[in-house]
Amino acid sequence: MCVKVPILARNYPSATSSNYPKIQMKAFYLFVLLLSGAVSGLLAQDKAPVVTALDLQTIPAGTRQHLWVQIITDAFGQPVCVPVIVAKGASPGPVVGITAAIHGDELNGIPIVQRLLEGLDPKGLKGTVVGIPGLNVPGIQRGERRFPDEEDLNRNFPGNPNGSNSEQYNHRIFSAIIRHVDYLFDLHTASFGRVNAFYVRADLRDSVIAKLAYLQPADIIVDNAGPTASSTGSGKTLREEAYLSGIPCITIECGDPHVYQEDMILRGVQGMRNALGALGMIPSGPGPDSKAVVCRKSYWLYTDAGGFLEVTVGLNQKIRKGELVGILRNPFGEILRRYYAPEDGIVIGKSTHPVNISGGRILHLGILK
Ligand SMILES: [Zn+2]
Repeated sequence: MCVKVPILARNYPSATSSNYPKIQMKAFYLFVLLLSGAVSGLLAQDKAPVVTALDLQTIPAGTRQHLWVQIITDAFGQPVCVPVIVAKGASPGPVVGITAAIHGDELNGIPIVQRLLEGLDPKGLKGTVVGIPGLNVPGIQRGERRFPDEEDLNRNFPGNPNGSNSEQYNHRIFSAIIRHVDYLFDLHTASFGRVNAFYVRADLRDSVIAKLAYLQPADIIVDNAGPTASSTGSGKTLREEAYLSGIPCITIECGDPHVYQEDMILRGVQGMRNALGALGMIPSGPGPDSKAVVCRKSYWLYTDAGGFLEVTVGLNQKIRKGELVGILRNPFGEILRRYYAPEDGIVIGKSTHPVNISGGRILHLGILK
């Protein structure tokens, strides 16, 4: 980050009674300069180099580096770069990737990546951690889930070097960064108008993936194969594309959009440290016993009419078949519908934005194993 300070007036005359007010102004400017320094504290100067691809061989062992990886160019021909933090251990080991905010309004993952990398001592680290604190750079700047071409980047892998805006972006993300990692953790939150429990989506049939999933301090783990639902060509999630490329990957959903939530951030960092410990990269104990509720599947319930929706159950609440979960009212406050749970389950996520047209999401229901 560049820090700009006020430029002092030049060529002050000598101190005489006639120019005394100017001396006062000089003192005032000096005071402002000192105050700005005091307020800004130890602001970092961004000196991170711009590179066209991640090249871990060029990074000295036992160091932490900041990089800008150029992905595309914007309408002015300027590079659009993704920030990458690399902690390369003094000893060899796996390369672990952690990505945040492929949906531009899902922000809790950003400080998880920052704090995880900041807390690692490269000299004691075995292997390398590659943190991307902000994948969807244009989306983050706009405060929006999607890419500027209105596509969902996380439904658009592997991308295409000759394709649309989002396809070219995804192709570059994967080829320049993701393909260099051995394991991947993709951080998300709920979307606008909804909230999430801290939950993990992972293919529990894969023993390595299952181990990484159970190490997260999650409320819920949804056993979700991912690749089986993939289409051909663009249309895959980052998790699917990583898995199909031989990179074990789990998705970690950390709370709510548009905000930093300290409890979610702390849990995210802890889960990642648990995983790095299990991979032998940092010292750790045996890892915590998972307290997560494991679901064999999950799905959303939707309204069948428009109106103002109140969801009557909470996150992580276990609900029974037939239990009231939502009430839909018309603008006069009259009840249009009551919605009930179709089967027993647990609330993974829910709508918090009352205004719904037909087909609005009510809640994300997990069905226990
Ligand atoms: Zn997301």
